Amino acid sequence: MSKSIIHVALDVPLPRVFDYLADDANAGDVGRRVSVPFHHGEKIGVILSVSQSSDIPATRLKAARAILRDMPPLPPDWLAMADFASRYYQHPIGEAVALALPPALRRRDALPRIPDEGAFSISDPGRLALPALPQRSVAARLLAALETRGALSRRELRTVSPSAPRLLPELLEKGWLEPAPAILRSGASAPPTLLEDQRDAVDAIARAFGRFEAFLLHGITGSGKTEVYLQLIEQVLARGGQALLLVPEIALTPQLEARVSNRFPGARLVSLHSGLAEGARATGFLRALSGAADIVLGTRLSVFAPLPRLALVVVDEEQDASFKQQEGMRYSARDVAVWRAKQRAVPIVLGSATPSLETWAAAQAGRYRLLSLRRRAVAESLPEVRCVDTRREKLQDGMSEHLLRALAARLDRGEQSLVFLNRRGYAPVLACPACGWVSRCPGCTANLVVHLADRRLRCHHCGREERVPAACPTCGNQDIHPFGRGTQRLEEALVRRFPQARVLRVDRDSASTPRQWHALLDSVHSGQVDILVGTQMLAKGHDFPRLTLVGVLNADAALFAADFRAPERLFAQLMQVGGRSGRAELPGEVMVQTEYPDHPLYRTLAAHDFAAFAAAQLAEREQAGFPPFSHQAMLRAEAPELKQALAFLQTARELGDDLSPEEVTRYDAVPMRLHRLAHLERAQLLVESRSRPALQAFLARWVAAIRAQKAPKALRWHIDVDPLEF
Ligand code: ADP
Ligand code: ZN
Ligand code: ZN
Repeated sequence: MSKSIIHVALDVPLPRVFDYLADDANAGDVGRRVSVPFHHGEKIGVILSVSQSSDIPATRLKAARAILRDMPPLPPDWLAMADFASRYYQHPIGEAVALALPPALRRRDALPRIPDEGAFSISDPGRLALPALPQRSVAARLLAALETRGALSRRELRTVSPSAPRLLPELLEKGWLEPAPAILRSGASAPPTLLEDQRDAVDAIARAFGRFEAFLLHGITGSGKTEVYLQLIEQVLARGGQALLLVPEIALTPQLEARVSNRFPGARLVSLHSGLAEGARATGFLRALSGAADIVLGTRLSVFAPLPRLALVVVDEEQDASFKQQEGMRYSARDVAVWRAKQRAVPIVLGSATPSLETWAAAQAGRYRLLSLRRRAVAESLPEVRCVDTRREKLQDGMSEHLLRALAARLDRGEQSLVFLNRRGYAPVLACPACGWVSRCPGCTANLVVHLADRRLRCHHCGREERVPAACPTCGNQDIHPFGRGTQRLEEALVRRFPQARVLRVDRDSASTPRQWHALLDSVHSGQVDILVGTQMLAKGHDFPRLTLVGVLNADAALFAADFRAPERLFAQLMQVGGRSGRAELPGEVMVQTEYPDHPLYRTLAAHDFAAFAAAQLAEREQAGFPPFSHQAMLRAEAPELKQALAFLQTARELGDDLSPEEVTRYDAVPMRLHRLAHLERAQLLVESRSRPALQAFLARWVAAIRAQKAPKALRWHIDVDPLEF
């Protein structure tokens, strides 16, 4: 008999698989973890295929140490997804697989114990197998019990035989048992009666069960999108399927988790995000893999959860930039989710008040189906959005007279206000008026931000910290000042102006852990706060029923930013932050302080008219040939010196010339806007095409050619497909 050879994905930055000998390997081991010798150590990889041949002479092949059969193999569709991501994002397959696995499963540790939970039922193959089994065997007794008693939990199975738990993996693998669908218990919070738009949306999506269709569920905050998801999930559970629900932020998961588990107390809910302890993450992944999870809720990495019974995918706030990974394999979880829905022939719902223009354009073109929720589910009225023209007014602590009066009025009425300033810290820079010194970060093209609360200067890019100096480091002048305004300074000003008010600041400094964040939210909800000061952290996904005023400071910069996506992000942010107000019976008001009150962005915002905003933006993008009218990839390089980075990119550009890339435009290498970061110089080169297949074909060959070159030792580079940052 010829020896089996396994082809293994290993977590190394090389775009290839590694072959090993494995006598005991068989086709059923595809998708299993394997321990192999690598250099002088050991690595845990995943078997992608098993064959009898290798391009490497058999004499040079090493033997695998052990195939780990302690968990079900990763299914073929999961491996195909990793393969897709690897190809699409031009990233080595081994790293793509490693990224998709929880860290604990990339080591040889004992697997975490899956808690006693979940229910099982007998499958048709199990029924067929039963008569042939020795009658008194544990397997036969288990199957017989399931046959007569229906679905049983692990605990109940243990009463049949104490050794049952040990037998479960084997029986599952044989396909004799299957995880039983969630038991929809009564006692759940009752769903509300849907509004007409919601009803139509649920019906349209439910009609797509069992096949691929992409839906854009467009509706402002509070229009009942989540309720639509929940009612769809209910149908999924009733059909014995699994639902995957992606959300942008870790901070948002507990709240949604609570809502989901209140609605479906009998369903097995797994939440997956990078904030979990490693053991919990691995357990969640294994529960999803074994089919013992009915609902997987999580941030971008949960798109890689294995889901044997997947029936529905939901991506909430689909426009959110956090769905795009910004390091390593720069994947978009939203886009992978769409691919996956197609692969598995299930519907996908992309929900948003302010969809990404890519998604919006797809809906306009009919590739996605647009479903609109046209009004709020509870509060009827939308907040009134007004621009305060700051050219005509002297600002006090950055606030206009209008805003200050409005804040005072809310205080009198016992209502809450929010002042939104997307800049944390006390002031963006410390400066010496005598000699012109400013607090620059020595490692970055950025200023050190003043944090007066703990008297530190901090770089928000590289994390460098210093004490606030008592005097100017260059001329010794003791009269140095913070310039500009961040949330801490605004908080201080509000406390001074409204001594009777309870002011609370919410940003990444005050809420750096989920625990702190929840403590802050609790104090808002229990009415212990009159004025909130915060960054965009506050903008997302929270109901503040007594909040009736939102003031927006310093939003203008994004109107004229070099990044063509800046207006899109600003619009989304302001819609979101505005959506915090007036959610209950009290009408809300949003005041945007601006020097450009007639700017179309603010006008469409005031009219709550996303469609008009999107149409204007898309027209501009079409003219400029920007996405979604073209597809882009960015090659970035970082090195100790800028000229090294630029030279590398220039060489790469020339390599591309030989690949006859007619439909692909390659731009010049340019320094990045924040070109120095943590003592490294950064440059980038954009490639673009109207045709995605042309771009993909080019990238595959181009990246291979770049890899074949020897880059300078101190230089690092990466490719970012569909980049969001410029
Ligand atoms: P979104 O996800 O669009 O922000 P939600 O689904 O969270 O909206 O709905 C906002 C609020 O309205 C929630 O408190 C929700 O329970 C409630 N709600 C949603 N749909 C209905 C409905 N049809 N009838 C009554 N209340 C509803
Ligand atoms: Zn000075
Ligand atoms: Zn820095």
